Amino acid sequence: MIDLSVSLEEFSKAYVSRLRRLLGQMDDRDCDALVLSLGADLPWLTGYQAMPLERLTALVIRRQEQPVLVVPALEEPRVESHGDLFRIRPWQEWEDAYEIVANAVAGCREVGISDRTWAASLLALQVKSNARFFPASHITKSLRSVKDRVEQAMLAEAAKRTDVVAKAIMDGEVRFVGRTEREISLEIGERLLAEGLEKVNFSIVGSGPHSASPHHEPGKRVVGAGEAIVCDFGGEFRYDGSAGYCSDITRTVVTGDMPDRFVELYSILQTAQSRQVAMVRAGVTCESIDYAGRSYIEEFGYDQYFIHRTGHGIGIEEHEEPYIVAGNADLVRAGNAFSVEPGIYIPNLYGARIEDIVIATADGCELLNNVERELCQVE
Ligand code: ZN
Ligand code: ZN
Ligand code: ZN
Repeated sequence: MIDLSVSLEEFSKAYVSRLRRLLGQMDDRDCDALVLSLGADLPWLTGYQAMPLERLTALVIRRQEQPVLVVPALEEPRVESHGDLFRIRPWQEWEDAYEIVANAVAGCREVGISDRTWAASLLALQVKSNARFFPASHITKSLRSVKDRVEQAMLAEAAKRTDVVAKAIMDGEVRFVGRTEREISLEIGERLLAEGLEKVNFSIVGSGPHSASPHHEPGKRVVGAGEAIVCDFGGEFRYDGSAGYCSDITRTVVTGDMPDRFVELYSILQTAQSRQVAMVRAGVTCESIDYAGRSYIEEFGYDQYFIHRTGHGIGIEEHEEPYIVAGNADLVRAGNAFSVEPGIYIPNLYGARIEDIVIATADGCELLNNVERELCQVE
């Protein structure tokens, strides 16, 4: 079982241990420095998430020195100081931040820069530095994809709060018939916020023929009787001073009786998803989990309608490593957190998806979402 209790003090300890592991990876890979700007690497390491401004924020990490956070002076008050972790170098509006970062990596040959850094920032740095820049994810992805105790507790908390909303849907507390997808989507979002999530990342409501479009943008369509509705939503949970961790769940409901073919399709999907969840444990390949569901769906001739991968890792980002997809022979590791979300979509007719988040363990997995998966009729 995942220990759900986590204190802010444990966060500080977790950051220190993540930095230690990161420095170890840099040594192994002969990486002279890391420049962490936008994206999840920085909050993973420090709890601080840079705003996606044009002004440069970057944590510069060199192997033998204390890391330095180069941050716009006006953003400095938002930075929680972690004296043991990094020092702060605020820069004023009239200074050249690229010069400061280029100086901080002076003499370095191989410099990892976080993948989500603005291209404009990297281009400006390349003008001022002789270093060869490569994606920091080469160093960070294997570390970030294995969630430590603190991160597991955060993901579990995010999932638990999201489950409350999914359960309300399955229990018929959310009205569907006669309302637009947009209205329902907004209600789901409000409910997520009421459960204490910091923000709503997405709230997909695809009704009738729209249920066959996996990432449908909820619109003006009014939900009628006898339709399938795919509801896929998630948000972010965080404590003050911590990075936010994401939730992501999908449930499909119906408004009244459906054709036999849909009922059959749904039960195939449900079995496929539970077979996939049962496959999860450390040491299996990512693609074998995909195959466990896809091959079952194929037995019934629906494989051509399962048009996306089975799942994605989840953490500070909604989608991150590892990806549960054909061709990914990477082995699942204990502590990997990812979605298991097969779907079957018959174009212009109807579709269904079931999605849960799991955390892999040595001999199985911890299921973070625990809302029923039976086909529920709602009104
Ligand atoms: Zn998706
Ligand atoms: Zn989802
Ligand atoms: Zn997902």
